[in-house]
Amino acid sequence: MSIVEKVFQSVKRRDPDQPEFHQAVWEVLESLEPVLEAHPEYIDAGIVSRIVEPERMIQFRVPWVDDEGNTHVNRGFRIQFNGAIGPYKGGLRFHPSVNASILKFLAFEQIFKNSLTGLPMGGGKGGSDFDPKGKSDQEVMRFCQSFMMELWRHIGANCDVPAGDIGVGGREIGYMFGMYKKLQNEFEGVLTGKGMSYGGSLIRPEATGYGLVYFAREMLSAKGKSFEGANVSISGSGNVAQFAAEKVLDLGGKVVTLSDSGGFVYDPDGIDRAKLEWVMDLKNNRRGRISEYADQFPSAQYTAVDRNLDHNPLWSVNVDVALPCATQNELNGADAANLVSNSVTAVAEGANMPCTPEAVEVFLKEKVLFAPGKASNAGGVATSGLEMSQNSLRLNWTREEVDQRLNDIMVNIHKNAYETAKKYGREGDYVFGANVAGFLKIAESMLAQGVV
Ligand code: NDP
Repeated sequence: MSIVEKVFQSVKRRDPDQPEFHQAVWEVLESLEPVLEAHPEYIDAGIVSRIVEPERMIQFRVPWVDDEGNTHVNRGFRIQFNGAIGPYKGGLRFHPSVNASILKFLAFEQIFKNSLTGLPMGGGKGGSDFDPKGKSDQEVMRFCQSFMMELWRHIGANCDVPAGDIGVGGREIGYMFGMYKKLQNEFEGVLTGKGMSYGGSLIRPEATGYGLVYFAREMLSAKGKSFEGANVSISGSGNVAQFAAEKVLDLGGKVVTLSDSGGFVYDPDGIDRAKLEWVMDLKNNRRGRISEYADQFPSAQYTAVDRNLDHNPLWSVNVDVALPCATQNELNGADAANLVSNSVTAVAEGANMPCTPEAVEVFLKEKVLFAPGKASNAGGVATSGLEMSQNSLRLNWTREEVDQRLNDIMVNIHKNAYETAKKYGREGDYVFGANVAGFLKIAESMLAQGVV
């Protein structure tokens, strides 16, 4: 048995009930055989067996009181997975599905993603099984304050800097920052995704979606193609999906789908700027459902989620580019086959691990340009890194300056993944290229720092 298989078996044995974590670990480990052959010193230093074990995992009780005076108890987590190249960095997710497996998968992915950005950030992730949907602002505030009453002692500008993720946007970051500041009595860059009036960065809200499209643009351009005139399907209608759609429009593409956990809308006329603005208001201010889009715009048709289907009809829409931007494992092997039969050119992951291993296999086999999230959605954390830099410098860069840096980072990540794959004889395999390029920097740093 090879060293990576041995390590993977031990991961499964230790935590048999963590399927998402196993999936994320295997996706990286299966790329590493040729690297370990070239670097036996990594094996001697136990790099692979150490990299799959979180440095620290914190789990805590989060009690809070709703508007009717009832007490609720949620579970809070922070996974500080790997600090070899910088303070832990990664988002907080508030969603009822949150558990140790999902957060460990996300924190593990984050290690390699952060490494790819070229910025000094370790990998972490956290969150809670709290569901902000349907809660009043006051309830969300009380929850965030209770969450931070425990988390504050584990984080800090030079130690661990959380950000947003599913269910955690500007409102939640604001409430958590307020409570951190009260408890620590220090105004420091401890969270990113902050409001502009108290230390946020321009372009941070847009960064993941914009960065995704910059990466996809690079991938298309390497094949002499572009977004101009391309039909694009996007899933999700949250932060990543909204700004991915905006950037696709900037580059001359046509966005034909958006979704939420209830279903998706297909608008053959295209979701233009005015319609997208309406969606942003619906989702961010009125906290409504995507089904309302079809009531507002008769050119669109709404399809509700049908859990009995073995595929998601969103991915049967005929498009040139697909950008899954909702959640993990939302695009399976059957969906990938449907996209391929419609001659899709490129698929780039905006969400974390939205494509199942079977789907990725289909794309690689059929030579569809495929960008794994750890490369293509790294623009969010990269711009969080830029927010940290601005906080340390105590100044704000302009919108154009941050956007230019984001663009340059995405171009570099693409180049790094592309060239690494090519160096190992796997040209065009961005999964391999991103895994290996991200891993090498971490492995070198762990090697230099001894067995810790
Ligand atoms: P948001 O909460 O803003 O939006 C999430 C969207 O996905 C919503 O439309 C939501 O629908 C939908 N969704 C969530 N869970 C499910 C589900 N189980 N089935 C179907 N749809 C679902 O989150 P973000 O846009 O920030 O995050 C989306 C993805 O991008 C996540 O995988 C996240 O980890 C990843 N990501 C985010 C970054 C960021 O900067 N925000 C950075 C890098 C990656 P509904 O409203 O019905 O729940």
